[in-house]
Amino acid sequence: MRATEDLSTVQLLITEDGNRAAVRELLTGYYDVETEQAVGEADLYLVDERSLPEYHDALRERVESSDPVFCPVVLIRRRDSALRINLPDPGEREPPLLIDDIVDAPLNPHLLFRRMNTLLVRRNQSEDLIHYLTKLEESNRSLEQFAYAASHDLQEPLRMVSSYLQLIDQRYGDELDDDADEFLAFAIDGAERMRRMIDGLLAYSRVDEEGAPLEPTDLNAVVEDVLDDLQVQIDEQEAVVSVDSLPRVTGDSDQLRQLFQNLVSNAIEYSRDRPHVDIEAERDGTEWQISIHDDGIGIEDGDQERIFDVFQRLHSHDEHSGTGIGLALCKRIVDRHGGQIWVESEPGDGSTFVFTLPDSSVADVDPNPET
Ligand code: ADP
Repeated sequence: MRATEDLSTVQLLITEDGNRAAVRELLTGYYDVETEQAVGEADLYLVDERSLPEYHDALRERVESSDPVFCPVVLIRRRDSALRINLPDPGEREPPLLIDDIVDAPLNPHLLFRRMNTLLVRRNQSEDLIHYLTKLEESNRSLEQFAYAASHDLQEPLRMVSSYLQLIDQRYGDELDDDADEFLAFAIDGAERMRRMIDGLLAYSRVDEEGAPLEPTDLNAVVEDVLDDLQVQIDEQEAVVSVDSLPRVTGDSDQLRQLFQNLVSNAIEYSRDRPHVDIEAERDGTEWQISIHDDGIGIEDGDQERIFDVFQRLHSHDEHSGTGIGLALCKRIVDRHGGQIWVESEPGDGSTFVFTLPDSSVADVDPNPET
């Protein structure tokens, strides 16, 4: 048998008539049995139909205050009982009903133990889950802080490196031989790349903390802005970008702009001449699936997940310029919106980046709807 401190606490809120003494005897040794007649801090509560009216409100309060950790209540019912109580339907998303299980009297000890243990296991699992979630949130927060502090503090010395390199170039550029000229150009280029990586990291670490509230947002306007911003790249590569009619979603328009900007810019960058890019939207239940399709170089199966990690690139700097943070930022933005992002691709046969966003129509309470 387990040590007493490991036992779950079961509180008996049943009447003398309900055979409190016998139930207590049955459970003692297997559970830490509490017989106090006021609702306390137990792991599971046993009530009967006579005691239920008296304890109902206090039990409800206890169950609700313990939420999101599951706190079970079991009713012992007499066979001749006229009491009609529904049990929670696991498929239903309504607030839980108070009683989680009903056991008929006279008690079958095996059945009672099995039902109680099942509920107690669920309680432990929900406690563990909350515990890990809290730890995960904490570690996420400290990682965010670390990324923010590191990238913020790196900016200053980098600025110094860049400005002195530029000073050398301006002041002594004419006196340098070809080799020195080339070395200096590499150093300036390296510093510039590092600046862009640090800016990217900073943007990445700020997605959750500094995002605007999520509100109904028209994606057509977002994409229009993005295409304006990318006009130079579109013209240079003679890209053709076709855009479906896009929905309103619940989102942060600035972050959605960054999302589209990275994906469309990549679609053009990782293509051959005159790329074709299609932006489409398809409804899927309460979500929208937005896809950005290109006819570019494609991505190997084995690389399709890691490109969403920070600084993961499949190409050298000489082949394609970039920081390797664009898709990581996209993933973080989509995560913040409660969606998912992935890529479908065949090497040599183009890529389709797909992400989901919640439809705004449920939460959309625009008092002045457009006519
Ligand atoms: P960056 O473009 O700055 O290198 P990203 O995080 O945006 O960083 O992309 C990571 C890598 O994923 C890129 O280096 C590229 O190899 C690959 N990639 C991204 N978009 C595409 C695309 N549309 N087609 C093919 N490869 C892509």
